[in-house]
Amino acid sequence: MDSITDKAQQLRHKISQAEKELQDLRRQLEEIEESNSQSQDTNQQFGSTSESENTKHELPEWKWPLSEEEYSRYGRQLILPTVGIKGQLRLKSAAVLIVGAGGLGCPAAAYLAGAGVGTLGIVDGDTVEVSNLHRQIAHNTPRVGMMKVDSLVEYCRGLNPNVSYVAHREHLTPQNSEDIVSKYDLVLDCTDHPTSRYLISDICVLLQKPLVSASALRTDGQLIVLNNPPAAQGSTEGGPCYRCIFPKPPPAESVVSCGEGGILGPVVGVMGVLQALEAIKLVVAGVGKDSNSTSKDPVTPSLLLFSATSTTPFRSIRMRSRRPNCFACSSESTLTLKELRAGSLDYVQFCGVTKPVDVLKPEERVSATEYNAILTKQSDMDHLLLDVREKEHFEIASIPGAINVPFSTLQARSKNSSLAPEYIPKSLSANAPIYVICRVGNDSQLATRRLKEMGLDANGERFVGDIEGGMLAWKRHVDQTMPFT
Ligand SMILES: [Zn+2]
Repeated sequence: MDSITDKAQQLRHKISQAEKELQDLRRQLEEIEESNSQSQDTNQQFGSTSESENTKHELPEWKWPLSEEEYSRYGRQLILPTVGIKGQLRLKSAAVLIVGAGGLGCPAAAYLAGAGVGTLGIVDGDTVEVSNLHRQIAHNTPRVGMMKVDSLVEYCRGLNPNVSYVAHREHLTPQNSEDIVSKYDLVLDCTDHPTSRYLISDICVLLQKPLVSASALRTDGQLIVLNNPPAAQGSTEGGPCYRCIFPKPPPAESVVSCGEGGILGPVVGVMGVLQALEAIKLVVAGVGKDSNSTSKDPVTPSLLLFSATSTTPFRSIRMRSRRPNCFACSSESTLTLKELRAGSLDYVQFCGVTKPVDVLKPEERVSATEYNAILTKQSDMDHLLLDVREKEHFEIASIPGAINVPFSTLQARSKNSSLAPEYIPKSLSANAPIYVICRVGNDSQLATRRLKEMGLDANGERFVGDIEGGMLAWKRHVDQTMPFT
């Protein structure tokens, strides 16, 4: 009991001491604040050196085009012959638009903000996800769930508050693209899908904006400056557009976004940094506002190819100038702003993507829970589960007993081969069902169709079908501990 009383007394003593200290600190703070406000009054009265007053009233004779802070901030690039004060002023008066605040957009925006472009606009309708963070360097863990645009602006503002940032919290569409893009001198395509690449290129042709386009996937990247110099449709003075270089979109089934295809962080980083570099070169050379001094170099750009695994990581391919029959930039083109806005160009259809595969009949499909119920009922059931994801996905996690035959391998095999594929175990009885699973349930349908074409369904005697929704559905409905990549 005594010890408790002692303890209580000690605590009371400590509290009263802390309170005294606190009072003392408050008094000191009051004194400091009071003396500070007095000295500011004196400064104002006698025109002494308060920093904020300097620029406003006391030094009207500051006749230099940049502020003192800007000379310090940009000093190391200002002294380069390729930039100089003229180049810096061009940067300061330039408005640059970055479409996509992801792996390319983050480094591109960071370097453009650092270099001191006057206005930096960023377009993106997505939010930050944890799977973005290994490559989208401006975002961070506490900002998961935040709009990417806001996260990137916050990052860049911390880097350089002198830049005027414009956040466009939406995806670029045929309907909003004119309003957004027309406010800028130069556009950087930092998106990751052909659909947006064609739209961005078209609007840049129509509004005569140069375009720095880059892409990256797995360990490779590519970069090209398009529409440079910008010129009216039909003019041979102008540089080629994206459609001149890639008149047809890649086959829809070959398009893998980096969500599925994988990407090494520094690879996309390299490409984004190169985009910023090309943008700075263009602005400093006078593209956009000061169009008279636009470079009149030959309008044959180079396509820069980067391959992280090659012994010669950088290669450059000289491209042709504008294509005489280009859909967008040639004299034959019927593309107009009005048509674009009216939605008469269906970019999604043109690129043939985003439509989920729907080739199987309901009776050719089982759900993840149905397949699990079959297995639970009869764990030793004679059957085959083919996992058609790529090897890397399979090695991370798979359903026990599954055999991995990547979709690409399956496709490569001749349809007419009469031999039973080597991945069909010899022990599998002739009528044992075959289930096919993939990542999200698209490839598995095509694989099922393929297996049937190869005659593996024994003229309908054997069930060959897929697991609807793939490993994603398996994770959601059967095994939540399964890592999903
Ligand atoms: Zn073209």
